[in-house]
Amino acid sequence: MKRVALLGATGSIGRQAVEIVATHPELELVAAASGSQPVDGLAPLTQVGGDLTELLERAEPDVVLNAVVGFAGLPATLWALEHGVTLALANKESLVAAGELALDARERGGGLLLPVDSEHSAAFQCLEGRRADEIDSLVLTASGGPFRGRTREELEDVTAEEALSHPTWQMGPKITIDSATLANKGLELLEAHFLFGLPYEQIEVTLQPTSIVHALVRFRDGASLAHIGYPDMRVPISFALTYPERAATPIEPLDFSRGLVLEFAPPDVETFPLLALARKAGEDGGTYPCAFNAANEVAVAAFLDGKLPFLGIAETVEETLGEVDGAPARDLDDLVEADAVARTLAEKGLPVA
Ligand code: NAD
Ligand code: MG
Repeated sequence: MKRVALLGATGSIGRQAVEIVATHPELELVAAASGSQPVDGLAPLTQVGGDLTELLERAEPDVVLNAVVGFAGLPATLWALEHGVTLALANKESLVAAGELALDARERGGGLLLPVDSEHSAAFQCLEGRRADEIDSLVLTASGGPFRGRTREELEDVTAEEALSHPTWQMGPKITIDSATLANKGLELLEAHFLFGLPYEQIEVTLQPTSIVHALVRFRDGASLAHIGYPDMRVPISFALTYPERAATPIEPLDFSRGLVLEFAPPDVETFPLLALARKAGEDGGTYPCAFNAANEVAVAAFLDGKLPFLGIAETVEETLGEVDGAPARDLDDLVEADAVARTLAEKGLPVA
């Protein structure tokens, strides 16, 4: 039996994880937590809000599925890495913000870090067993979101409701907005760098509007491996929770009799600047990725509240990145400080209502 602690149990990933755990008799949900919604009866140990590491201490899990949204997931990520407990990570923001600190914690803890983000689960599977010198480059795919093909003028007045209707994935509100701005792909670029130790020049982003190809790895011999399947987060959730078993799931396999459209195109980084801003934050290093994430969280919340126009999200992030010092964090206190400073700067830049 594998003891699973599920954080963010009431969210989009969390609910799909509950479903996956129920289909695998070798998985046992020992703890479940949410930010504010009730989780009674989901698991023997439950918690709403508060310090999630207290729940993890009590639960003694074999695997932590961190499906909290945003920087709030950081203490749980660091707890699992530090304790050498397998971390199935959906909460990309914590890895992006913590960066080297998270990798140091993993080094000390010696446990597994398994991505749940679909592109990174796909990349992990393409890269497994390969040495760095065999790899030419990693390609992350993006659907392009609901506004693919639009001009900046056409994005000036888009509403939260329009931005929340994603063409291929049903997800929580924050990541859905991030997909519409391409900030999600920016976060994923940073996430991939830390997960796989690849330099930024070896990570590329391409648009693949049907979300069938999740990632692709080019090797030095000219061969490329792609991971393909219908867009369904239960696949990477099940992969991470049952690793290395690759247990059966009730998921529809690819059906070629229905036809399959696989088109690729470069992303429009002028119209969607957050991807390029994330790349720059990653290359600048230190706490720039942390600041990118913090400013983006503030701006997305303001956009969802109707306090910031869509194009203002990227502007807020760009201005914030221009004002922070980006100094590397030596410890968790430094990181929390860098996050707070970036949030304050981002808030200050918001239009006054
Ligand atoms: P969601 O908004 O649907 O759910 C978020 C969950 O986190 C909820 O259970 C909520 O109660 C909990 N939460 C929020 N703030 C909290 C706090 N301060 N303390 C404890 N719990 C808190 O979000 P989601 O779409 O499920 O995404 C979760 C994470 O997974 C995000 O980091 C997202 O980027 C990532 N992810 C999601 C998908 C997807 O398909 N939804 C795909 C890839 C990656
Ligand atoms: Mg993803």
